[in-house]
Amino acid sequence: MSKRAHNFCAGPAALPTAVLERAQAEMLDWNGMGVSVMEMSHRSDEYVAIAEKAEQDLRDLLAIPSDYKVLFLQGGASQQFAEVALNLLPEDGVADYIDTGIWSKKSIEEASRYGRVNVAASAKGYDYFAIPGQNEWQLSKDAAYVHYASNETIGGLQFDWIPSVGDTPLVVDMSSDILSREIDVSKFGLIYAGAQKNIGPSGLVVSIVREDLLGRARSSCPTMLNYKVAADNGSMYNTPATYSWYLSGLVFEWLKEQGGVAAMEQRNKAKKDLLYKAIDASDFYSNPIAINARSWMNVPFRLADEKLDKVFLAGADARGLLNLKGHRSVGGMRASIYNATGLDAVEALVAYMAEFEKEHG
Ligand code: PMP
Repeated sequence: MSKRAHNFCAGPAALPTAVLERAQAEMLDWNGMGVSVMEMSHRSDEYVAIAEKAEQDLRDLLAIPSDYKVLFLQGGASQQFAEVALNLLPEDGVADYIDTGIWSKKSIEEASRYGRVNVAASAKGYDYFAIPGQNEWQLSKDAAYVHYASNETIGGLQFDWIPSVGDTPLVVDMSSDILSREIDVSKFGLIYAGAQKNIGPSGLVVSIVREDLLGRARSSCPTMLNYKVAADNGSMYNTPATYSWYLSGLVFEWLKEQGGVAAMEQRNKAKKDLLYKAIDASDFYSNPIAINARSWMNVPFRLADEKLDKVFLAGADARGLLNLKGHRSVGGMRASIYNATGLDAVEALVAYMAEFEKEHG
């Protein structure tokens, strides 16, 4: 087997080696058909079976209730920012949004193009280092929905609770923490997630929509962005991202073999505990996020002297610890530790951090 680096990329992120090996083995000749999955009609019985199995496995993994549709769409999570509003926000309505960082701000900007947005709470007052408690939220009386991002991939800020919004549909951008720990899908009206972190390759976004929210799209909503059209056509109104869908299916199978989301949650907890412990035990490394809002998936950290950033990154690269550079808007470092990045990767990172501190601290 070829040598695989420890990949801490925020996305597109590491995929399980076993999944890539399986895709490699099936690349030229899927199941004796003599063609690659990429070369199959999306309407063929074989491809439809691949797609349906992927959906069923995802349903099993997240225990998705039967009154939810699972849609395999395109345009990334960024397109969902508009799609949510076009489908759920009436022209004369209002939607409540919670601002916890760069991704929620983008969703707010995009929804504002289509209707009235009330920013019901913002982490700005906490310099985006903590999440305002629900007692601080100013929710509208008649909101069409409440939207938030469960994990801010860049800031490293994650909800460890699900907002309670009564009968108002709760909409969540779960791009960077879906499948990382157990959730109760029935608490949400709509969950969406770009694939390229915990699901599969980019080119795909998964939306899980409660059925009563279908059919509310405004008349100007493009056909391709209408959730009901997607649902009525099994996400095949047009040609879907067939290969990304197939590969995501392999990831779902892998997740089931690993023991499902509950097992991943245990593993992810051990990973993040190890990394935050190393950061907190040192005066050389720091992470500013409030303890209860620290992300399990994206761990930003700073070195005491930012002049050492380049040296740190070069040393990391030389050890096969890749993509640790923080987002350009934040600086410092960021270790993204999604499902496919194992405890061994975090152990290697923590060992390197200790070594680096000894030499430069
Ligand atoms: N939301 C979150 C939380 C993200 O992390 C990202 C991508 N990093 C996006 C939305 C945008 O996703 P995409 O690139 O698929 O549009």
